[in-house]
Amino acid sequence: MKFCSNCGSDRLQFIIPEGDHKERFVCPDCNTIHYQNPRVIAGCIPMYNGKVLLGKRAIEPRYGFWNLPAGFLECGETPEEGALRELYEETHAKGKIVRLHTIFSLPQFNQVYMLYLVDLESDYATPTSESTEVAFYDLDNIPWEDIAFESTTFTLEKLIEFPEATETFSGKFIWKEERFKH
Ligand SMILES: [Zn+2]
Repeated sequence: MKFCSNCGSDRLQFIIPEGDHKERFVCPDCNTIHYQNPRVIAGCIPMYNGKVLLGKRAIEPRYGFWNLPAGFLECGETPEEGALRELYEETHAKGKIVRLHTIFSLPQFNQVYMLYLVDLESDYATPTSESTEVAFYDLDNIPWEDIAFESTTFTLEKLIEFPEATETFSGKFIWKEERFKH
């Protein structure tokens, strides 16, 4: 952060405010403390007739790898709404939220993911500007080698291993670029 978003000052200091426990950007001109907090990413595990819908990423990182539809939550939106919006934006599929299935964080990027189990209303899905390809996979035929992220693998493994589960799974992942070099 270079400028105060409140008054435009360029004299921001990165200090621990009185009574706080962590460094913050503090503006000495208008006294605003700029709190920065993790962002929420909402996503889906879209299911139809026992198959899961995956989309091939149209962006880096991990361009061309399969992933579950997910994206940044918008202001004024619930995670459930965000999950279904991302599902539609990425695959043009529509469905209903069943329950929160997995919550995980990438502390390195200040991101918290909430993935919902979704019942699709049909097997309709198409490629979009965000997915170069979309496909339904049987749970015993997941393209594990081509899954985009370890967190996605974790989510799909829990889905397969505990089909009757009603609890929410949770995890924490550290992104390592070299892990994905081919
Ligand atoms: Zn200021």
